[in-house]
Amino acid sequence: TMPTTPIPFQNTYARLPDRFFAEQEPTAVPSPQLIKINPNLAQDLGINPSWLSTTEALDVFSGNAVAEGSEPLAQAYAGHQFGGFSPQLGDGRAILLGEVVGSEGRRDIQLKGSGRTPFSRQGDGKSALGPVLREYLVSEAMHALGVPTTRALAAVTTGETVLRQEGMVAGGVFTRVAASHLRVGTFQFFQAREDLEAIQVLTDYAINRHYPAAAETANPPLAFLKAVIAAQANLIPHWMSLGFIHGVMNTDNCSISGETIDYGPCAFMEEFHPGCVFSSIDRNARYAWGNQANIGLWNLSRLAEALLPLLDSDREEAKVLAEEALAEYAGQFGKNYHARFCAKLGVSEGAPEDFVRTTLELLANHSVDFTLFFRRLTQVANKESTEGLLALFSDPAACENWLQLWQTVEPAPNFEKMRLANPIRIPRNHRVEEVIQAGYRGDFEPFEKLSAALAHPFEEAPEFAEYEERPTPEQVVHETFC
Ligand code: AMP
Ligand code: MG
Ligand code: MG
Repeated sequence: TMPTTPIPFQNTYARLPDRFFAEQEPTAVPSPQLIKINPNLAQDLGINPSWLSTTEALDVFSGNAVAEGSEPLAQAYAGHQFGGFSPQLGDGRAILLGEVVGSEGRRDIQLKGSGRTPFSRQGDGKSALGPVLREYLVSEAMHALGVPTTRALAAVTTGETVLRQEGMVAGGVFTRVAASHLRVGTFQFFQAREDLEAIQVLTDYAINRHYPAAAETANPPLAFLKAVIAAQANLIPHWMSLGFIHGVMNTDNCSISGETIDYGPCAFMEEFHPGCVFSSIDRNARYAWGNQANIGLWNLSRLAEALLPLLDSDREEAKVLAEEALAEYAGQFGKNYHARFCAKLGVSEGAPEDFVRTTLELLANHSVDFTLFFRRLTQVANKESTEGLLALFSDPAACENWLQLWQTVEPAPNFEKMRLANPIRIPRNHRVEEVIQAGYRGDFEPFEKLSAALAHPFEEAPEFAEYEERPTPEQVVHETFC
């Protein structure tokens, strides 16, 4: 049945104390046009999918109208960016429209790129079209890959241009859906202001929204911290098992819910190397593929610090509790990482960690495409010839030796497990780039086609075979931008 309002908004965040946000309506744009809508997600959210293609919906997704029931606001937060602390960041180009309770629970609906807010600082509050297309594609691809992530409900062009490094480019607005937009940086905002009362309110809100079981324990803030640690220790190995490099793991981009958030200069690694970095702004390789484990712990340590006053009235005792909780990260991370790579290799989880290490060394030493290696190994496990796998190596003997080792570790590789751990298609950087460039020319066909290709990444689809391929030397993307 059609809800009485097109989006059945609730506004629990708007009920939090005034200092948590600023009321802010989106800024109108001259001539919005719909690029893409996500009817399946709408259905899950309890929004009538057929409403999405109405002019009323276009007005809502472009910020030209505030839907009934929405109480738009910009959230306050702080954050460590590349290690340096900013006590005030906040939604500078995002506006939370409100929440809906769908089949998966409560979800935020947020516009990204809909104008200035009190947190905009020098920024224009807008989004260029390119990043809108990237976030749509990559976040939905991550969802299809099974990774916890924010989602894409809609993307529109605005009919106006924005000034970016590359000059004047078309603007866009992205509609993001998230379990919430609470970040480590939200806690740091109040920590920086020594606003203990706010930290308590925020913690209660986060527990209620994401980790209700924590409320039933003897020390809810501690149980909450442990739950966030566990969520990140699950998420980051999942990224790594897909060759995903987030690119900007600042504490303001570290979600309390354990979802991947903020698809800026992210990238999927091609030739494997643990030091791999794409982001143009990551000068010191702080957020390299292999550094993401450590950065996860670093970010969680900042959350623990913000929570210290709630963990115990005695500061020293609180520190002991925080350190004990943080000490669990390494073991959880390692276990999840090992399990993910064992699945990729089709070996039992009893396989030695050394075998995973040796495999990754092989890939690094021979500059092998990460996705293709595991894809073709999956085919080998399915009794297909080793030809395609060996062809990835300039020195096939190195791979043949490794195959013998693999056989010793696991004489009967688990093909079904491998199939579900090793995607056939990922959003390769040159394809994403191609989509963005076409989008700027007003051509959204490559976007549509790539979206379709990535919807079922583990399934054979000969019609999408081109998306499996590595870039030609001219197509290689060396750097990504936000
Ligand atoms: P991000 O790098 O996307 O995580 O953003 C970091 C901070 O910069 C956040 O506070 C954003 O709201 C803000 N920001 C990014 N782009 C803009 C923009 N175009 N206008 C205003 N604020 C922005
Ligand atoms: Mg306020
Ligand atoms: Mg951000």
